Parts: sequence; structure tokens; C-alpha cells
Amino acid sequence: MPVYKAPLRDMKFLLNDVFDYPGHYQTLASGENATPDIVDAILTECGRFCEEVLSPIYQSGDEEGCRLENGEVTTPKGYKEAYDQYVMGGWQGLSAPEEYGGQGLPASMGLFKQEMMGTANWSFSMYPGLSLGAMNTIFLHGSEDQKQTYLVPLTEGRWGGTMCLTEPQCGTDLGQVKTKAEPQADGSYKLTGTKIFISSGEHDLTENIVHIVLARLPDAPKGTRGISLFIVPKFLPAADGSVGERNGVNCGSLEKKMGIKASATCVMNFDGATGYLIGPENQGLECMFTFMNTARIGTAIQGVGPAELSYQWALDYAKERRSMRALSGKKEPDQVADSLIHHADVRRMLLTQKAIAEGGRSMLYYAAKLADHMVEAHTVGDDKKAEKYDDKLGFLTPILKGFLTELGNEAANLGVQVFGGHGYIREHGMEQIVRDTRIATLYEGTTGIQALDLLGRKVLLMTQGGAVREFTLKIANFARKHLTNKQLRPMAIELLKLTAQWNLLTVRVMLAARKDRDVVSAAAHDFLMYSGYVTMAYMWLRQSAVAADKLENGGDESDAFYQTKLATAEFYYERLLPRAQAHATSMLSPTRNLMQVEPDNMAFTG
Ligand SMILES: Cc1cc2nc3c(=O)[nH]c(=O)nc-3n(C[C@H](O)[C@H](O)[C@H](O)COP(=O)(O)OP(=O)(O)OC[C@H]3O[C@@H](n4cnc5c(N)ncnc54)[C@H](O)[C@@H]3O)c2cc1C
Repeated sequence: MPVYKAPLRDMKFLLNDVFDYPGHYQTLASGENATPDIVDAILTECGRFCEEVLSPIYQSGDEEGCRLENGEVTTPKGYKEAYDQYVMGGWQGLSAPEEYGGQGLPASMGLFKQEMMGTANWSFSMYPGLSLGAMNTIFLHGSEDQKQTYLVPLTEGRWGGTMCLTEPQCGTDLGQVKTKAEPQADGSYKLTGTKIFISSGEHDLTENIVHIVLARLPDAPKGTRGISLFIVPKFLPAADGSVGERNGVNCGSLEKKMGIKASATCVMNFDGATGYLIGPENQGLECMFTFMNTARIGTAIQGVGPAELSYQWALDYAKERRSMRALSGKKEPDQVADSLIHHADVRRMLLTQKAIAEGGRSMLYYAAKLADHMVEAHTVGDDKKAEKYDDKLGFLTPILKGFLTELGNEAANLGVQVFGGHGYIREHGMEQIVRDTRIATLYEGTTGIQALDLLGRKVLLMTQGGAVREFTLKIANFARKHLTNKQLRPMAIELLKLTAQWNLLTVRVMLAARKDRDVVSAAAHDFLMYSGYVTMAYMWLRQSAVAADKLENGGDESDAFYQTKLATAEFYYERLLPRAQAHATSMLSPTRNLMQVEPDNMAFTG
């Protein structure tokens, strides 16, 4: 089975040359310690940990899966040891505030770490990933006492965390949540209800698990306005901060599922469990969604990671496996046949994976700078600034999460295709990447919900197209600067046309939606994908502009690196970007073609 290799060269190109992270960190209080040397050392060490510790247990973890016995979940062999090393390395607190035991580095550093760990072993990375969600929620909405009690052990990684939203009757529509919270004389609450699909709900990696739970107070208003947020620890904290009495929350069963088998997905039963209100009554959803943008960017990594991993392994295979001769003549005449990589159709698959992985990484790192500003503003209590960056990020988040995870699935499937039948059998790990990646378009808001959030809320309702105007203006200004460069001009011209078209499409959908409300739902997916292709095109022009400049003036990388960047951008513009036009056409087609068939006439059975 192949192993993961950290793509440090590409990461450093993006960080240092395309997005000037060294300069960006100088503008942040949390960036004071993120000097280029420190960043470099952290990335290198993280890469080593991923290659040597997480990657080797990727396939074995899938085969063994998690086990539930007497209410206790055992993770696969090697996971506890790997987690202990993770804790020893201080990885959980990398970007967490120093006052609660973290290292206080910028949020983006956490994202780079998450990308490498998630790519090497997504199931493993879910345990600390969920803890991060709990940490963010407590940091922002918890009382000082709650922060002292829970944040410190969570930051150290001694305790784990979960996010308990979903119930059997609702995942997307959380207004239907039924779990009850009864107030007690001592100010605590007793929670009763069942949550399903809870990642990391029970496991053997940490000494305690802190559940963040959505529940309803007695007489709470119906729907989303009557939901509150609670901390429900597996073990109640003792007065000295250590682990105390066992609480009434238990894992009833483990979900049997398609992929991420080393990640425990639990049915959690709350049986009069003691909980503590976090944030104001009935504002649980708002509190839960505060860090939703950062959490969703975290899930967007699951688009880039599988594209990278599947590409690395498919590339190696395409260089070794031989089949027939290239149409343009023998490439390896001394061999029995040419290797797969000499066939244009195999190149199409590999370059699609590469363009998605590197284009997607670029989108993540672009957004991570905005996340740094937002988190810093929250930390110093500058609400206005936090809101400004939250809005900017809020527009990009559904594009990142929806578009990148859809493309991540495509890339993972292409990896199987490059291997032929050998991709379908388990030995090479390619089918595991497909199974593990499939969940990415479902949790943290399905692609359909991301699309509605983008078009319905962020573009039409909240800004009447303003969000698209603002972003396309930025893109167009960048493109215009490169019209005079012979090599970049074709891309810049194409991008300028697309920015105009994106605005036009927005207006046309807006006008159509005034007459027919189904238009928003009908157009949303195509609008999301169109937006994704244009955003990725912007990223490829940004990378190309740097590559062209470095080729002329010299840079840290080889000429071949920069030339390959330009060639990949050309591939993206000429072979993948045209898909945007299909989405544009489909988006504007009438809703009739979706709604005219009566539900009773859909099936021709019986
Ligand atoms: C492995 C795994 C791990 C998970 N981890 C967690 C976790 O840690 N914590 C947690 O709380 N949950 C978790 N979930 C739950 C996950 O977030 C939900 O499954 C997801 O939000 C979708 O909800 P649902 O399954 O109820 O689908 P539904 O909401 O029933 O949606 C079904 C389909 O209908 C579409 N749809 C729904 N409403 C609309 C609408 N208004 N307009 C258009 N289309 C619509 C959706 O896009 C989707 O395609 C996990 C799930 C899995 C499988």
C-alpha cells in the first residue's frame, strides 16, 4: 500500500509566494510568533507525523473499524498510540488561545495542519476535528468558569469533544430537534433524548468527552427559535478539574457505514444527563453556527485531501503500469509496452486530479487569511471587524465546502479509474479513498444546502447580488493587471468575461425568482458549481502570475515547478473551466423541466 507524502513544495509556494503569509502574519497579533522559520519547522514536523504515524494506519483502520462493547468504543489498533503522540506534540492547541493552554498561533496554521492530517488519515483527523468545534463554541459562548473547566483539557487534547445536532427525524432541519432540557434547582439541566450520527461520540482516545448538545427548554418556542445549547460531559468534572462521576449519556450503537470506518459514528442516548447551558436560552442555533464558516472550511479540506492523496497514488501507478503503445509512437521502445502516463486519456484523469488538488488548496489558503482576521477580531472583541470578515468568509464558505467536496469525489473516482480493475479491489487503497470521501458532500450541510445558502441567503436575500459584485470586482481588477502579459492574457481575458457573466447570471436568476419561487432551489446547484469553477480559475491565474514572474526573475523553486504550474493552469482553463458554461445554461432553464412530472408518476413500477 502506498503512503502519503506531504506536498510541502506546493504548500510553501502558496504560502510564501502566492498569498504572502509571512507579510500577512506580521499584521496579526497571533502572527508574532509565526515567523517563516517557525512556520517552516511546524509544517515539516507535521508532514513527518502524517507520513510516518497517520498514513501507515489509514488502511488498517478501515479494515478493523471501531468496536462497541459494554458501552465502550475501541478505536482500531494504533489509533490510541497515534493520538497520544498527537497530544504530546501539542497539535490540538496549535491555534488555540494561550490563556487556555494553546500556542496562540493564527487559525490558518491549524488549517494547514488539518489539511495534512486529514489527507493522510481522514478518520483519525475527525477526533481532534470535532474537539476543535467544541473548543470554538465554548471559547466564544462559554462563561469564564466553563472555559477554565473545559477549554484547558480540550486544548491539551486530554479531553475530546463532539457536536450533537442530528436526531432521527432531522439533520438539515434542526428546527425539529426534540431532545429536552429540564432546569434543575442547582442551575444545571437534565437532558433526555437521542442523537444519531454523532462523530467521536464515544471512544478510547481521551479521558473525557465533552458533548455540545442542541436541546429544547420546557415551553420553548417551536422551530429554530426554541433551541438552546448545552455542555454535557461524559464524566462530570470534579472540583479539582479532574474526571469525576459518570454522566447519563451513553453510546447506544455504532452506525455501520460506507467509509471513514475508523471514525466512531455513534447513536448517543441522553438519559437525564446533567448538562450546563452555554450561551443565552433559545439562541442555541446562532451560537452553534458562529464558527460554522471555519468548521465548513474544515470540511472543504475533505475535497482537497482526497484529490491530493488519490493523485499521488495514481501518478505513481501510471508511471509503473504498462499498457499498449502511445498513439503518437513508442515512448519506451525497450519495454514491452508504454506506461499508462503516456496515454492522453490517462493524462486527462491525472491532470484533473492535480488541478483540483492544487486549485482547491489555493482556495482554502485564500480563505484562511480571511479566517485569521475574523478569529483575531473575535479574540479581541472587535465585533464590527469580526462581522466584516465573517461576511466575506460567509460568501466563500458554501463555495468551498460545496464545490470542493463535489470535485474531491470526482478526483477520488478518477484515481480508481487510473488503476483500472486494480482500483476497485481493496489492495491499493483507491476504493477506500472513494468510500471515505463520499461523506464530505453530506455532513456539515449537504451540497444542496450549501447551494441554497449561497444563492438564496448570501447572494439574493442578504446582499441582492452585492456579494457577487464585490468578489467579481476583486477578481476583475486582478485579471486586468495581467492583460499585457502575453502568457497570462488568454486566462485574464477569459476570467474577465466570466466575472461579467457571473453578475449577469445573478441578475437573471434574481428576476426569474421574483416570478417563480422554485427558481432558487432549481438554480442553486448550478450556481454553486459555476461559482466554484470561476473562483478556482481566479486561483489558477494567481498561481500563474507568480509562476511567470519567478520564471523571469528567479525563485526558490526549479523552473520545471513554475512551468508545470503554468501548464496545469492552461489545462484547467481549457479542459475544466468550460464546464462553467454548461452550469450557466442549465441554471437558467425553466423550473418546469423539474416540477412538471407529478410525484405519483415518477416511477413506472407496479
Ligand atoms: C458519518 C456521519 C457523520 C456525521 N457526524 C455528525 C456529527 O458529528 N454531529 C451531528 O450532529 N451530525 C452528524 N452527522 C449528520 C449529518 O450532518 C446529516 O446527515 C446531514 O446534515 C444531513 O441531514 P439528513 O441526513 O437528516 O438529511 P436530510 O436533511 O433529510 O436531507 C436529505 C436530502 O434532502 C435535501 N434537502 C433537505 N432539505 C432541503 C431543502 N429545504 N431544500 C432542498 N433540498 C433539501 C438534502 O440536500 C439532502 O440531499 C453525520 C452524518 C454522517 C453520515
